Amino acid sequence: MSGANAQRLLDDVEAFCQEIRPVEELCYVEHRYNDQLIPLAKKHGLLGMIVPTEYGGRGSDTVTYARALARIGREGTGVRTFFSGHTSIGEYPILTWGNDEQKRRYLPGACTGEKVCAFGLTEPEAGSNPLEMQSTYERRGDRFILNGVKYLISNGGIATTIVTFAYPKGGGRVSAFILDTATPGFAAEDLTAKMGMPTANTAMFEMTDCAVPAANLLGEEGAGFRIAMGTLVSGRISVASGCLGVIEDCLLEACNYAKERHQHGKAIARHQLVQEHIAAIEMHRIASESLVLRAAEAKDASTREPKNPELTARADILAAQAKMFAANASWDAADRAVQVYGGRGWSTLYRPGRHLQDTRVCRIYEGTDEILKLKIAASVLGKEYEAFK
Ligand SMILES: Cc1cc2nc3c(=O)[nH]c(=O)nc-3n(C[C@H](O)[C@H](O)[C@H](O)COP(=O)(O)OP(=O)(O)OC[C@H]3O[C@@H](n4cnc5c(N)ncnc54)[C@H](O)[C@@H]3O)c2cc1C
Repeated sequence: MSGANAQRLLDDVEAFCQEIRPVEELCYVEHRYNDQLIPLAKKHGLLGMIVPTEYGGRGSDTVTYARALARIGREGTGVRTFFSGHTSIGEYPILTWGNDEQKRRYLPGACTGEKVCAFGLTEPEAGSNPLEMQSTYERRGDRFILNGVKYLISNGGIATTIVTFAYPKGGGRVSAFILDTATPGFAAEDLTAKMGMPTANTAMFEMTDCAVPAANLLGEEGAGFRIAMGTLVSGRISVASGCLGVIEDCLLEACNYAKERHQHGKAIARHQLVQEHIAAIEMHRIASESLVLRAAEAKDASTREPKNPELTARADILAAQAKMFAANASWDAADRAVQVYGGRGWSTLYRPGRHLQDTRVCRIYEGTDEILKLKIAASVLGKEYEAFK
């Protein structure tokens, strides 16, 4: 992407963020889904940031997209999670493993908001180990018949298009499918008893004899696990970028408040123990930014040479490191910003309290802390020390 186009995209992201903020704040305190997010993202041309222009998108590279998501992350993890679900793990697998006909059928609509995307891998009995999934498919004529339940799916209740996964009935390897949610037998239910992100949609869905056209098989039959793991690299960079935004916002909020609030005869920003919080958040910001950009650059390098296994492995591990670090750093940054706000901090009326509630999930989805630690340790120790295959 040229520098001018990248700047235009980031300017549009900035305009979107300014417009979404008052709506998001109101929806948050009223504890309801932000139904202006998709219309505003459409207005500013942000529904296909990584999709090539020939399919109606902005053609962003990963580094620019990461910067865009960091800016969006400042508006809240719920807002950013919509983009992760729709773009990083929804459009991305169609773009990367779809054939030209699939790309033409799905991507232009996804870029205009006519289609909303999601990624359905997790099941009630299969989270950290997706290979324990119980969803199945069988071929009947020119259709695949899918059965199963998917759980905790971002955008799952608003999506028109879900990339989902199932085993062949009778044994074999997982395959990936593009599922239209209008298919008879599809039923979704919103999950609302969440600890945060009230403005974002999270749902479970059931597939009961859902007949998916054979043309909607994504990639080769049996390639589903590889597609899922490849997609998570893109997803993890998106989470890490969003967490960077959370840290940036916590820093801004904590600094502004600390300069305004006076106790013991001076601005609390002049108390050294308050400065300790500011310094810690700033260090989180700098370190997270470095890791996010490093991972995004590695992802761009592997996209340029998709058949180079070393570049693929490098992007995979750097994405895991960035996600693991930034998720924990954003949790600590939000906690410290709450502390700087004092009693007002412990409230969803102020940004630090909302960030604290919302960013906690970043240590769970797209690979828990534990799973990512095992992955990082094995990358250092060697393949023979992998905790699980
Ligand atoms: C808000 C939200 C949105 C989500 N969005 C999506 C989405 O869009 N698409 C999707 O497919 N999924 C999504 N998920 C699901 C998410 O990816 C899973 O919750 C996550 O992978 C963990 O799986 P689990 O919840 O089943 O926990 P489990 O796998 O049951 O893990 C429970 C605990 O055990 C630990 N554990 C498990 N195995 C090991 C091990 N081998 N060694 C050490 N510790 C281990 C875990 O780290 C964790 O601490 C979402 C989840 C949430 C909360």
